[in-house]
Amino acid sequence: MSSVQVAVVTGSNKGIGLAVVRALCRQFPGDVYLTSRDPGRGQAAVAQLQQEGLRPLFHQLDIDDLQSIRALRDFLRDKYGGLDVLVNNAGIAFKVHDTTPFAVQAEVTLKTNFFGTRNVCTELLPLVKPYGRVVNVSSMVSSSALRGCSQELQQKFRSDTITEEELVQLMAKFVEDTKRGVHEKEGWPNTAYGVSKIGVTVLSRIQARLLNEQRKGDHILLNACCPGWVRTDMAGPKATKSPEEGAETPVYLALLPSSADAPHGQFVSDKTVKPW
Ligand code: NAP
Repeated sequence: MSSVQVAVVTGSNKGIGLAVVRALCRQFPGDVYLTSRDPGRGQAAVAQLQQEGLRPLFHQLDIDDLQSIRALRDFLRDKYGGLDVLVNNAGIAFKVHDTTPFAVQAEVTLKTNFFGTRNVCTELLPLVKPYGRVVNVSSMVSSSALRGCSQELQQKFRSDTITEEELVQLMAKFVEDTKRGVHEKEGWPNTAYGVSKIGVTVLSRIQARLLNEQRKGDHILLNACCPGWVRTDMAGPKATKSPEEGAETPVYLALLPSSADAPHGQFVSDKTVKPW
């Protein structure tokens, strides 16, 4: 088994994820895995970074596919005995003018952004080694969507005692409420992407709390973050940040030094802890 440190970035064949891999290849003292659901797109991205003189490694990962997640988990356990850095970056968003029915957008968006990310965490967090760093890429949109929730929902999402099971039930309820056409009556904002990212931010708060309760001596730091508004296929060419600038906050959180005990369980934007 290798004693080399290892970092994994989900959804890193393009956009912010690719820029995070590029930065980690330069700064992380270990193996860096570029992952992609499509091996062809992943290998092309690896070749692009190799052209730049960098040496990323590749592993397939579709966060919608539990078998794919478990194959990566087994690979990391067998080859490295665990994992040092996990950046949960993979995500999707329907375009603003997409005419797909809202209930379908809700189901598809929550499937990847919340349930897929959660499945990766469920399978990989137990592998994270002492002093490991976990970064869940959320969005400022999670904050604005939170403010668009009913007072009752806001209270639940800000609670310091909400459990992962309760969060999962709420995310599933949002999807069901959109199917029945009652999501606004039930206190939800009119944004599937926003609700999915509420889920990512709240999940991060819960996971950090569990790490405090169950693995305090391991000094693992886990945070949610917003990369900013970044020029990628998702956000388009008018966004204000380059992918490299968008990668700065996730990379900062991924490389927090072993002497750091904060931030942990926070929502971080521009390397600054934001109120939730
Ligand atoms: P992007 O250019 O569209 O890249 C998204 C990446 O996620 C792609 O590599 C995509 O792979 C991958 N992905 C999607 N579904 C996946 C799945 N089921 N399994 C594995 N990989 C999957 O978007 P981006 O702007 O870089 O976004 C990266 C993250 O930042 C997302 O979580 C996004 O919500 C968040 N974010 C972005 C912005 C922004 O302004 N861009 C702002 C706030 C937050 P394929 O190539 O196969 O589709």
